[in-house]
Amino acid sequence: MKHAVDERGYYGKFGGAYIPEMLYPNVEELRLRYLSIMEEESFQKEFQALLKDYVGRPTPLFLAQRLSEKYGSNIYLKREDLCHTGAHKVNNTVGQIILAKKLGKEKIIAETGAGQHGVATATVCALMGMECIVYMGKVDMERQQPNVERMRILGAKVVAAESGSKTLKDATNEAMRHWINHPVDTHYIIGSVVGPHPYPDMVARFQSVISKEIRTQLLESTGKALPTHVIACVGGGSNAAGAFYHFLNEDSVELIAVEAAGKGNDTDESAATTVLGKPGVLHGSKTLLMQTMDGQVIEPYSISAGLDYPGIGPIHAHLCDVGRVDFMSVTDEEAMSSGIEVSRLEGIIPAIETAHAFAVLPKLTLTKDDTVVINLSGRGDKDLETYIQWGKY
Ligand SMILES: *Cc1c(COP(=O)(O)O)cnc(C)c1O
Repeated sequence: MKHAVDERGYYGKFGGAYIPEMLYPNVEELRLRYLSIMEEESFQKEFQALLKDYVGRPTPLFLAQRLSEKYGSNIYLKREDLCHTGAHKVNNTVGQIILAKKLGKEKIIAETGAGQHGVATATVCALMGMECIVYMGKVDMERQQPNVERMRILGAKVVAAESGSKTLKDATNEAMRHWINHPVDTHYIIGSVVGPHPYPDMVARFQSVISKEIRTQLLESTGKALPTHVIACVGGGSNAAGAFYHFLNEDSVELIAVEAAGKGNDTDESAATTVLGKPGVLHGSKTLLMQTMDGQVIEPYSISAGLDYPGIGPIHAHLCDVGRVDFMSVTDEEAMSSGIEVSRLEGIIPAIETAHAFAVLPKLTLTKDDTVVINLSGRGDKDLETYIQWGKY
């Protein structure tokens, strides 16, 4: 397969495992075992059964008629918003928790920014009866109070990260520290295609169910398995990696990744990593990263909590570098208008992350012969407050 990770965890120039020596045993155990465990029949049986009956897969591929009419094309929506917990993230947490059990782990840790990955992790820990600790920046806990309570209702312990800027990167540091101190009984669930190898590859494989289903469903409804375009938003890049995965070898399929440009890429308030970032090391892998001249991480900005990550997964840094994926970015304003448009035309209020993917439609030249798939990564219920504050509807 083209663009697959190599033995050492690299996608071209990006990836690898830049970790402190103390973490080496944990990451090495995972690296040596993840593929063989994922190939075991008993793993696949349990994973597929939970995807079907717990997550609710396959999620529908919906022909959005009014949106198609408006843009003069054929636009299909891959309904990841209909997954249990309202977004694609649970595909990965279900996979990782089964893997953790097979590794003999009894406890789970995770870090979360906006809280979505924390909720998806707390959910599967409740399902499996495993102890769950979620690290979250103190500032983020205040901003995302409902998700903190969701995690607590599910039985997770939420620990505030009080250092630094008290946001995601500080929560990540705390989680790493915990893992170093509890290497034997604990698995660390990372929520996107980021982190040291093998996490980016493992998470991409768990999310690849999205593109696998798209191929089957398109073939059923159109007679052709290949669309002309696949569009997905990118924070760390897990929903995009999943939506692109089984099309990476198909050169006729145009893959479009959409980053958040916040208030514009010419302001200090953006999260468009491929535009503003430079190669650097973040969370254990070499990737593109928003940083100052002397290499300090810049806090990104987006109206969408799930997209304001200062890097992108190494697979995307590579796909951008070699030109296999087109990267575009859209502003808060463009994304919010698109979110309202999709709500009005299709009766689906998308997550604001997802609204970014829709916002490239007016920028593309589409025809009635094109088949466009947009990965509808999540539902907008969690973003109601942001829609209300934005107000223009
Ligand atoms: C978390 C999240 C994202 C961004 O994460 P990726 O790893 O880039 O997919 C996008 N959409 C929704 C709905 C999310 O919850």
